[in-house]
Amino acid sequence: MRRPFIAGNWKMNKTVDQAVEMVTELKKLVSGVEDVDIAICAPAVNLYPMNEVVADTNIALGAENIYWKESGAYTGELSPAMIKSVGCQYVIIGHSERREIFGENDQLLNLKLKTAFAEDLKPILCIGEKLAEREAGAYFDRVKFQLDAGLSGIEAENVKDMVIAYEPLWAIGTGETATPEQAEEIISFIREKIAKLYDQATAEAIRIQYGGSVKPHNVKEIMAQPNIDGALVGGASLEAESFSKIIKF
Ligand code: PEP
Repeated sequence: MRRPFIAGNWKMNKTVDQAVEMVTELKKLVSGVEDVDIAICAPAVNLYPMNEVVADTNIALGAENIYWKESGAYTGELSPAMIKSVGCQYVIIGHSERREIFGENDQLLNLKLKTAFAEDLKPILCIGEKLAEREAGAYFDRVKFQLDAGLSGIEAENVKDMVIAYEPLWAIGTGETATPEQAEEIISFIREKIAKLYDQATAEAIRIQYGGSVKPHNVKEIMAQPNIDGALVGGASLEAESFSKIIKF
């Protein structure tokens, strides 16, 4: 039985003070939640002070990105070990904004995944299609390609423990959500693809989230779908009140 997993992605939002204030409030609002895994992926500079607030609570932390090398002359980058040392368990890999704005491709993301596993970080691998691909009916091909390339050479035991976030680009930050049926259709396809790449046990174990304009009012019907194990939440994770309502779907 897969545990639901609700994760926030703050993107480039919040100063240290704002971040600490938010998690201090969220901690109170979700202290009684035992049946859902909770994480916030935040700007790197906020993670250490956030960890002071949420260490030993039911709120885990994640980074929004890492580089794939362990250390060295990579100005401006952060290694998995650095992220781990400030209390992170998770890291988002391949968010569509990293792919689209910063030109990250599936080969690079594959290296990042491997480095994350080597440091015992749990990656949240984001995949999903653009609007034109959806309209042309090419969305199955897009996620199939992203999985083939992204997971190349990665062992089943790591895949079981990672998270995939299906995030159609046309639904991110737009207020437009995939219908629960659209999300279920492609997420069940992703699970079948994992079974083909690995085996049934791996496909049953991996958690697959939906992301794209998840809000308190639509989370329940999304989470009611049999193959959807959680949500990756952007805008609605920035406020403790709205994020706690999503967590308590
Ligand atoms: C995201 O950034 O991953 C996301 C899904 O954003 P939003 O919830 O704001 O659409």
